[in-house]
Amino acid sequence: MDADLREQIAGMRDWLVEIRRTIHSHPELAFEEVETARLVSEWLERFGIEVKRGVAKTGVVGLLRGGAPGKTVAIRADMDALPMDEATGVPYASKIKGKMHACGHDAHVTILLGVARFFSSMRDKVKGNITWIFQPGEEGFGGGKLMVEAGVLEDPKVDAIFAAHVFPFLRTGQVGITEGKAMASSDKFILRIIGKGGHGAYPHVTRDPILAAGHVITQIQSVVSRNVNPLDSAVVSFGAVHGGRAYNVIPDEVELTGTVRSLNPAVREELKSRIEQITRGVVASLGLDYHYEFEYGYPVLVNDARMSKLVVSTCAEAIGKENVEILLPSMGAEDFAYYLEKCPGAMFRLGVRNEKKGLIQPHHNTLFNIDEDVLPFGVEMFVRVIDEFLGLKREG
Ligand SMILES: [Zn+2]
Ligand SMILES: [Zn+2]
Repeated sequence: MDADLREQIAGMRDWLVEIRRTIHSHPELAFEEVETARLVSEWLERFGIEVKRGVAKTGVVGLLRGGAPGKTVAIRADMDALPMDEATGVPYASKIKGKMHACGHDAHVTILLGVARFFSSMRDKVKGNITWIFQPGEEGFGGGKLMVEAGVLEDPKVDAIFAAHVFPFLRTGQVGITEGKAMASSDKFILRIIGKGGHGAYPHVTRDPILAAGHVITQIQSVVSRNVNPLDSAVVSFGAVHGGRAYNVIPDEVELTGTVRSLNPAVREELKSRIEQITRGVVASLGLDYHYEFEYGYPVLVNDARMSKLVVSTCAEAIGKENVEILLPSMGAEDFAYYLEKCPGAMFRLGVRNEKKGLIQPHHNTLFNIDEDVLPFGVEMFVRVIDEFLGLKREG
C-alpha cells in the first residue's frame, strides 16, 4: 500500500505545483483572500465535497462524508499573505506590489487541496468524515478564532484536528513536531511615557520622556532575567520607539510598543503586571506619568499528547524515525492554538529547506521560497495521519 500511495500522490505533482504557483503569484492579505477562497471552493466543488463559503468573511469549509460512519477529522490551512515585497525573482513571483506569500501559506492551501483530491477519488472507502478548514488572517489577525466561533468544529463534531506549517529549518522530506506546549502566547503592549516638553537647552523646566523611556527600556530587561523562573520561558521585546521630532526640542511624550511571549498563563500574567510596575516606579522617580495598554493575542499552542504521538509514529513509519524531529517549543505564535483549545489535535512542521536548490531563507524574508517537493510530501503525510486517525484500511 505504501509505495502505491506515494506513487498515486506523485501523479498529482504538476497539478499541485501549478496551484501553488497560481496562489503564490496572487497573494492576498488577511480577510481579503477572495480569489484564493474562490480557487479553493471551485476545486472542492469539482471534487464533490460539500462547501461552505464566506465563513469568518473569506474562510472556506469543506466536508466529505465517507461511505461508512465513523469519527470526524479536520485539517486546516491558512490563506493569507504578508504586506511585503517579494525579491526572489522567480517567474511565478508575486504580481502584486507590497504583498507576498513569505510564510508559505500558499503551500498549506495547496497541500490541503491535494488531500481533498486524494480522498474524493476513494470516498466510499472513507470511514467517517473529513473536514477541510481554509481560514483567513492568520498573520496576527486571529482568523482561526473567528473560524472556531463560526462553529467549524461542530456539525459534524470534529474529534481531532491537524495542521502543518512549512519550516525552513528542516530539510524537505523531514517532519518536525513538539509534544505539549509547542508555541507561545503572543501579546502586545503600548506604553506611553508622559512628560512635559520644552527647549533642549532648558531641561530643568521640562520632564524629559526620552530619558525616562531609556530607563524603562533598560529596567524592563530585568523582568525576564529576575522575575521569571529560569526553567520557564519568556520574551519581552520592544518593537517600536516613537518620540520627538527636532534635535533641540524635548517632546511631551514617548511611545514604546512591544511583544510579550510565554508558554505558561501564570508567566503571561506576571509579565503583564511587572512591565507596568517597573514603568510606574521608573517614571515616578523622574516625575513623569505613563499610560499602559496590554492587548491579549494568540494563546499558547498546546499539541495533544496522543495526537502528537499519532503524527510521530505515522510519519516515522512512512519516512523513517531519523526524518521525524522532536523540536523544542518555539516563542513564535500561531492561531491554530484556538482550535486546539476546543479539540485535541496537533500542528506539525514540514521541512522545505533545500541547500542544493539554494532554498535556505527564513520565513517572512523577501527571498523566502519553498522546495516544491514538500507539496506531494505534505499531501502524503496528511493522508497517512487521516488514515491512521479514522482507522482506514485501504487495500493497495
Ligand atoms: Zn507567518
Ligand atoms: Zn505562517
